[in-house]
Amino acid sequence: MVQNKCCHIFAIRKVDLEQKKRKICKRCGFVDYKNPKIVTGSLVIKNKKILLCKRAIFPSYGKWTFPSGYLDRSETPEEGAIREAKEEVNIKIKLRKLFIVFTLRKKNLIQFVFLAKHLNKTYKPGIETLEARYFNYKDIPWKSLAFPSVTFTLKKIAKLPKKLPIFHTIIRD
Ligand SMILES: [Zn+2]
Repeated sequence: MVQNKCCHIFAIRKVDLEQKKRKICKRCGFVDYKNPKIVTGSLVIKNKKILLCKRAIFPSYGKWTFPSGYLDRSETPEEGAIREAKEEVNIKIKLRKLFIVFTLRKKNLIQFVFLAKHLNKTYKPGIETLEARYFNYKDIPWKSLAFPSVTFTLKKIAKLPKKLPIFHTIIRD
């Protein structure tokens, strides 16, 4: 999104070639397109165990998820997934495959999930993580997962579909 010194004052007008109604600033002409935000993350698997992080941030504080977060400016989904794993659990990862692309329509958000390998030996929670742990599949805390997308992803990993990535839209998020 374009940032400038203007304190935007928005009006709803038809602005572009398609003549769709959008929020446009009456002072500077900035158009608030509301393009989807992009989240990227990784499912890190080691000795058949899955790395999960307990969130130290809202929403879903205290719930488990895999390392993921918003893309930075001009970052690729791959770079973002690697950076998030480093920030959230202090691990170095290698991405193997794009696993799932989610569209969370109501949240106006697209999420990439990669399968990844943990390269270094250790891991340690970062500031956005209360605790990090490798779980055996049967021990996954299903009732304490942070988001429906986490549940979906972990269910799919049980029996890896032949065709990757899987494209999935979450309706109730
Ligand atoms: Zn403005």
